[in-house]
Amino acid sequence: MALKITNECINCGACEPECPNKAIYEGGKEWKLSEGTSLKGIIKFKSLIDADKFQVPKSKKVYFIVTEKCTECIGFNNEPQCASVCPVDCCILDNIESKEELLKKKKMLHNEK
Ligand code: SF4
Ligand code: SF4
Repeated sequence: MALKITNECINCGACEPECPNKAIYEGGKEWKLSEGTSLKGIIKFKSLIDADKFQVPKSKKVYFIVTEKCTECIGFNNEPQCASVCPVDCCILDNIESKEELLKKKKMLHNEK
C-alpha cells in the first residue's frame, strides 16, 4: 500500500527527510516526480505525468504524500519511515498495492532492473 497524511498533521516536518523516494512535501509546495527518483519525461501512472514538470500541491494546509512515489519504503526499510517518526500517527495506509507492485514501483522509480 501507499500511505497518506491525514488532516491531523501538525506540520512538524519530521517525516519529510525520512522518505527514500522524496514522496513527502510540505503543504502548498509544488512537487515533481523526478525529485528523489530517476524518472524523466512522460511517465504513465493512472494518468500521464511529466516527471520534470512541477505539479499542483495535493494539500495546501498539511504535509502530503505523492502516492505515485510512495512504496511503503519497500527495498529501503522494513517499515514506513514516515509513520515511524510521526508524533501524532497521522501517516496511514491508503492505496492498496501488493508487495510485488510496490517492489515493481520502487524499481521503476529508481531505474533498477
Ligand atoms: S511510506 Fe516510505 S516511501 Fe511512503 S511516503 Fe512514507 S517514507 Fe516515503
Ligand atoms: S511527521 Fe506527522 S505531523 Fe509531522 S509533518 Fe509529517 S505527517 Fe505531519
